[in-house]
Amino acid sequence: GSPHPASPVEAVLHALFERHRSTLEGQVADYIPELSNADPRAFGICIATRDGHVYEVGDTRQPFTIQSISKALVYGLALQDRGEEEILRRIGVEPSGDAFNAISLRPGSGAPFNPMINAGAIAACGLLDKDAAGSRIARVLEFLSGFAGRALDIDEAVYRSESETGHRNRAIGWMLRNVGILDEDPTDTLETYFRQCAVRVTCRDLALMAATLANHGLHPVTGQVAVQPGAVRNILSVMSTCGMYDASGEWIYRVGLPAKSGVGGGVMAVLPGQLGIGVFSPPLDAQGNSVRGVRVCTDLSRELSLHLFQAG
Ligand code: GLU
Repeated sequence: GSPHPASPVEAVLHALFERHRSTLEGQVADYIPELSNADPRAFGICIATRDGHVYEVGDTRQPFTIQSISKALVYGLALQDRGEEEILRRIGVEPSGDAFNAISLRPGSGAPFNPMINAGAIAACGLLDKDAAGSRIARVLEFLSGFAGRALDIDEAVYRSESETGHRNRAIGWMLRNVGILDEDPTDTLETYFRQCAVRVTCRDLALMAATLANHGLHPVTGQVAVQPGAVRNILSVMSTCGMYDASGEWIYRVGLPAKSGVGGGVMAVLPGQLGIGVFSPPLDAQGNSVRGVRVCTDLSRELSLHLFQAG
């Protein structure tokens, strides 16, 4: 890091980086074999404001796979394709308290509890408009690229690794087919979902994606519309209640920002109307959230007074 940070925000980021860089807690995800190759020391923190200022420290340009963070954004694409009413009929908005990969379907309707667990994310992927021009994965890639403000690509090795081992997610897909949440054979949907999870991003991308959500769906640097403003409210709502796996309640209590994490070690948090935060650090806690990601966001929220529900 630079010894003379250029701004007060950079000074805060450098202090946080030094405070948390040496923790050895957490385990790199290995249920997708290829993810176990991640470097546990990699660590980056980035803040992007809605007027396009970017502050970064550490490994903010190192690529990793977006994993579950894609769920929050692709939910927005499904809403744009199908409309809120149709999506709400098929995917709930209640926190489940279950693990991300639970076969968590509501008794009766069989609808997934929310779009942030795998069942809900696979359903959202399967509900993307098949008649739109371009394959579904091409549309997902273009949509996610709009949030990043640059052309993203797919980590083929991670995709193959998850496709070779993702039998539990396939089981969820077939359950969704069985209860009629999905109308067709889910095989193609699962491959699209695995590719969606393997989209390569950087910590800086996550901060800009979050800043785009903070800016009503308009990318703060490119000025392009990444998502319709109406969908932003829906995305941020489910991130607030369900974004941090089964630690979502504690997260909103302590950090007070809508956020989404992924097993690649990324965390994306949004202060609506203001800024986006990206943190990257692969070792995960027992709930599947990046250990340093949680600590950095907790400290940032307190030190910069970012909690949404604080007085004044
Ligand atoms: N591709 C991963 C899965 O479905 C995403 C999980 C995550 O990041 O939570 O298992």
